[in-house]
Amino acid sequence: MLRIRADLVDEIVAHARREHPNEACGIIAGPEGSDRPERFLPMRNAAADPDYPGLPNTRIDPETGEKIEELRFGDTFFIFDSKEWLAVHREMTAREEEPVVIYHSHTQPYSEAYPSAIDVESALEPNAHYVIIGTKDPVRHELRSYRILDGVVTEEEIDVVESYMFAHTGADDVPDRD
Ligand SMILES: [Zn+2]
Repeated sequence: MLRIRADLVDEIVAHARREHPNEACGIIAGPEGSDRPERFLPMRNAAADPDYPGLPNTRIDPETGEKIEELRFGDTFFIFDSKEWLAVHREMTAREEEPVVIYHSHTQPYSEAYPSAIDVESALEPNAHYVIIGTKDPVRHELRSYRILDGVVTEEEIDVVESYMFAHTGADDVPDRD
């Protein structure tokens, strides 16, 4: 399960709406081993840069069964800018943080808030919660979270809380009565 503060969810939604129809992407860092997302780090989607050459992709047309050769840009996938990612990674290491949440948006009318083949391939952080926000509807968004391990996608529940301090943390914190 992903437990996340409501203000961080608001940040993800705002970032995704700002970038639409390009995919927004970013990280929420937290203390190593805490599983607690705390620091919102929106990232640039390098595939949305005007000079991005496009990612060659082959897919099968679901109606005709024919192969379609296409180039994908920032409106159908995301890639962190390598320099920015390196800088963020260094900063997290120095602060003893890790990427607790790695989020991006899906924007196309046909796309669900579910990891694509590229998303699964590029998911290399075994401890991260992979959050996808769907923004195809201009008013209602869809927010879902996954674990991705060795190519296997498992959806998990999202618990949105006002504060981690008052979140239910288990029976050990309940004082004995009587
Ligand atoms: Zn995706």
